[in-house]
Amino acid sequence: MEKRPFVTLEQLEKITESFPTPFHLYDEKGIIENAKRVQEAFSWNPGFKEYFAVKATPNPVLMGILKDCGFGMDCSSATELMLSDAVGFSGHDIMFSSNDTPPEEFKMADDMGAIINLDDFTHIECVEQVLGHIPETISCRFNPGGVFEISNGIMDNPGDAKYGMTEAQIFEAFRILKEKGAKRFGIHAFLVSNTVTNDYYPMLAGELFELAVRLEKETGAKVAFVNLSGGVGVPYRPEQKANDIYAIGEGVRKEYERILVPAGMGDVAIYTEMGRFILAPYGCLVTKAIHEKHTYKEYIGVDACAVNLMRPAMYGAYHHITVMGKENAPCDHKYDVVGSLCENNDKFAVDRMLPKIDKGDLLVIHDTGAHGFSMGYNYNGKLRSAELLLKEDGSVQLIRRAETPQDYFATLDVCENMKKYL
Ligand SMILES: *Cc1c(COP(=O)(O)O)cnc(C)c1O
Repeated sequence: MEKRPFVTLEQLEKITESFPTPFHLYDEKGIIENAKRVQEAFSWNPGFKEYFAVKATPNPVLMGILKDCGFGMDCSSATELMLSDAVGFSGHDIMFSSNDTPPEEFKMADDMGAIINLDDFTHIECVEQVLGHIPETISCRFNPGGVFEISNGIMDNPGDAKYGMTEAQIFEAFRILKEKGAKRFGIHAFLVSNTVTNDYYPMLAGELFELAVRLEKETGAKVAFVNLSGGVGVPYRPEQKANDIYAIGEGVRKEYERILVPAGMGDVAIYTEMGRFILAPYGCLVTKAIHEKHTYKEYIGVDACAVNLMRPAMYGAYHHITVMGKENAPCDHKYDVVGSLCENNDKFAVDRMLPKIDKGDLLVIHDTGAHGFSMGYNYNGKLRSAELLLKEDGSVQLIRRAETPQDYFATLDVCENMKKYL
């Protein structure tokens, strides 16, 4: 699939008059259209709800757009709960899917009426202690162990993952929770990340639906929902084929009809916690070429660095790059596109064939709308960039200002000599 930016050079030149690079830019129109597709794809299931994984893009304006699309929020920490509360989410519109959870965060989630998804068997006792009760609605995270293999070689190793309960533990958990007053149960699993295939959700659903039938039969606990969590991927590379969310929804429906309906469980709600699929393609990192360097390799130095987008440095992840205004120029130059960190892995691209880049060129780094800005950090004293929203009407809204040195120094006010910078 050819990868085109959702913004033109002309638009970007105008935006950069008011907002200096680097910044993350989000596409409101694309976000809303995609959210509608997700809702449609699962509309066969009356209880369906997507809980957007806040960690992917924790910006209240974007969370508000998703709220208007009917989504809930999936949180994993106190600050994510606070953000969701501030945007107006409450009660069962919040899923609290955390792990290694600080006990007081269970309390905070419960006070907000959120659904608590227990990562571990021992958390039953922890929750009971800190809340003084077991919530009537409760979910347990399942880890089948071993290897989970989907089509065309896509696989992962749940057996090596820190998340979730074993099968024996989840049966025991359901029995104990029921005894302690839980009435509506959910099961959750996240087995493979960034799956670029339409088969992941349907396969996972098949496993979880069968588990749900056995759990209900053997423990008498009422399974109210199955949470397929995240993991639906996006085509970061041009040669990859995008997932078809309609095919995914239909695949899950088939498993539902095959397994749950005949078991008399046709009232189970499907929940999802997608982050990447919801926003990744609808955000990009806009950066400017500020240096070129010719040594043993050809380097283009840009004004963004790995603190603005960690995935290439952290996972060796591919992010497509468009040199704005040179979309149709031949890709006849081989570059490393680098940032300014004192770390040799601070490279947005290695040996990438691109059009000839000149100083001042604007580069769009694609698919940074999820797990982009949010993974940012402050190494080398680098500051977090702004986040901008390209609205449906073509205007641009600053939805997070860039950090200033004052922000960076804000926690250092213990030091007298720092005061002049605050
Ligand atoms: C990270 C995460 C998600 C979202 O994952 P994506 O890959 O962005 O879809 C959902 N649920 C949980 C519990 C997570 O940790």
